[in-house]
Amino acid sequence: MTKKETKSIVLLGHHLKSLRLPTMLGECEKIAVRCAHDNVDHLGYLLQLCELELIERERKAAERRLKAAKFPTYKTLETFDFKAQPSVNKVLVNELMRGEYLEKRENILLVGNSGTGKTHLTTSLGIAACGQGKRVRFYQVTELITQLMEAREDRDLSRLKKQLAKLDLLILDELGYVPASKLGSELLFDVISTAYERMSLIVTTNLPFENWTEVLGSERLTGATLDRLTHRCHILETAGESYRLQDAKRRRTKNSSSKPNKTK
Ligand code: ADP
Ligand code: MG
Repeated sequence: MTKKETKSIVLLGHHLKSLRLPTMLGECEKIAVRCAHDNVDHLGYLLQLCELELIERERKAAERRLKAAKFPTYKTLETFDFKAQPSVNKVLVNELMRGEYLEKRENILLVGNSGTGKTHLTTSLGIAACGQGKRVRFYQVTELITQLMEAREDRDLSRLKKQLAKLDLLILDELGYVPASKLGSELLFDVISTAYERMSLIVTTNLPFENWTEVLGSERLTGATLDRLTHRCHILETAGESYRLQDAKRRRTKNSSSKPNKTK
């Protein structure tokens, strides 16, 4: 390498750093060697570097979106067994995975007993949305209510609400496990009203609609919440037995049938 070339590389490194193009910086020499070998012209070389920078940028952004979404576990549709949960509308799930509902600001409601795959399906949908460039946040309803109440006490509610308003998809898992206080229900309702037609919501619940009043307290609030949630809404029912229970039963039958026969 000539003295002039070394100087160019040092300067180029400096400029690429100032321009915040770390992948170009890391790859420029290696790709230059490859392009020289493959007889790729200068524009082709530049194109390859730009493409690598963009791919890496998108990968990092997707990683950040996934982290910011705070999913409790990493679950995808690949590990969801539709045969074990025949009530689940597979066609609808696959359609929702494509994410058009997000563009239309439509909601999804998952209703079913505990252990029937609501959180699993919801997480799969949320991860898919992150992959489609959407800002997602997963909350257990009780966790969100606690955060709202604490923020209110600290006079910090508007900051939290601003954060929520930036989302494309807000996931509210497990509405109905714990009855909320009057203030908690009102704060939650406020979030749902603000989200209405501005972003998509996915709500999971083990409660049939007629029992929502038990959780939200007042009939008026329940009516208004349901009205907003169910307008432009896809409903997925996960009826049937808990997957964990089915799984445990399967294991038990397998174990008992594979036990050695002790009788002579
Ligand atoms: P819910 O939210 O309805 O209470 P979860 O989604 O938490 O249920 O499911 C309980 C456990 O069973 C999770 O580990 C989930 O991954 C698993 N599970 C539920 N349904 C299925 C299914 N059809 N295929 C594979 N795993 C499932
Ligand atoms: Mg759940």
